[in-house]
Amino acid sequence: MAADPPAIRLTGLTKAFGAVNAVDGVDLDIVEGEFFSMLGPSGSGKTTVLRLIAGFEQPTSGTVALFGQDVTDRAPFDRDVNTVFQDYALFPHMSVLDNVAYGLRVRGMSKRERHALATDALATVRLEGFGDRKPGQLSGGQRQRVALARATVVRPKALLLDEPLGALDLKLREQMQVELKELQRELGITFIFVTHDQEEALTLSDRIAVFNEGRIEQLGTPAEIYDRPASPFVAAFVGTSNILDDDLSRRVLGRGGLHTVRPEKMRIARADAAIQADHQAAGILAEVIYVGSSTRLIVDLDIGRRVTVLEQNDAHRVGEDARGSRVRVGWDERDTMSLTAAPIPADDIPPLTRSEPASRSLDWRLQ
Ligand code: ADP
Ligand code: MG
Repeated sequence: MAADPPAIRLTGLTKAFGAVNAVDGVDLDIVEGEFFSMLGPSGSGKTTVLRLIAGFEQPTSGTVALFGQDVTDRAPFDRDVNTVFQDYALFPHMSVLDNVAYGLRVRGMSKRERHALATDALATVRLEGFGDRKPGQLSGGQRQRVALARATVVRPKALLLDEPLGALDLKLREQMQVELKELQRELGITFIFVTHDQEEALTLSDRIAVFNEGRIEQLGTPAEIYDRPASPFVAAFVGTSNILDDDLSRRVLGRGGLHTVRPEKMRIARADAAIQADHQAAGILAEVIYVGSSTRLIVDLDIGRRVTVLEQNDAHRVGEDARGSRVRVGWDERDTMSLTAAPIPADDIPPLTRSEPASRSLDWRLQ
């Protein structure tokens, strides 16, 4: 039995604007029903990929297939996807209900039918009773929900969302993240979500593609991306990382190469206290930054590097008064991630790392 075709398949997708390759040879399969995020810094090509999928741009080379059909040459309205933009793009003079029903009107549906469907769609985004208002009479979060209702009412097979929560303040954004996830589960359709916010991508997604300069740096589940970053770029962009360069790796780990350790995986104690950890280094506590539920401790190691340690505030071992004092930092081998692009001789890999299945996400980089 043949497997279902992917909801979206991008093959060798490239888009050049003059000398700039905004999208540079992207190959990607997105599974039906998946909450898929494209994460990357501004200018990394995320919006362009979305516009190529929607058909607002034509690729310089490569193809876009939706559910097994090549749609590269089809017009946007002839593709079974819909887009939600950051600025909502609602019609200000139309009522909320008519805004939501607009896509159905264009498709020639009767007024009674389309108003019934639009009313249902407003209920799914918890805006029942708001149909008569104008967009200007709604809050930012409510307007974003209208935009979602309008995009989903036509039952697209995939919904493309370009930084849809970017204009909302933090509290509302967190609330909308939950609603978005619930909506996706309820509708069961593929969501392709573009964001530059790593926390948002980690929270919402089944899988994430991390973009850098028009290319996918890493593709994986949130846990794979966070726990096993495949490159220094991913390690630095997704969360905070301590990068151990070759010299530091040799001195502390006893082997060369590029490694990274997350701040929350490091432990810290006063220099005279013992610390249980596979790897240890001594230094001076340079800075203590209180960040609510946790504290960020900056340590200048004696070997001339600076690392960040993150401690939950219920686990205090060194207080703010310890600034300037001698400390010891430690972490375990299993939390030491290799970023080295060259294959490491098998003998040099400690058993823990070798047997860990998650390290498979690194393989495609190493080939
Ligand atoms: P992102 O959404 O990740 O911020 P974009 O896809 O918008 O990135 O842009 C990727 C690159 O392509 C950037 O360098 C941007 O300046 C360039 N770019 C995007 N659209 C155009 C365009 N219409 N004309 C020229 N350059 C463009
Ligand atoms: Mg963009």
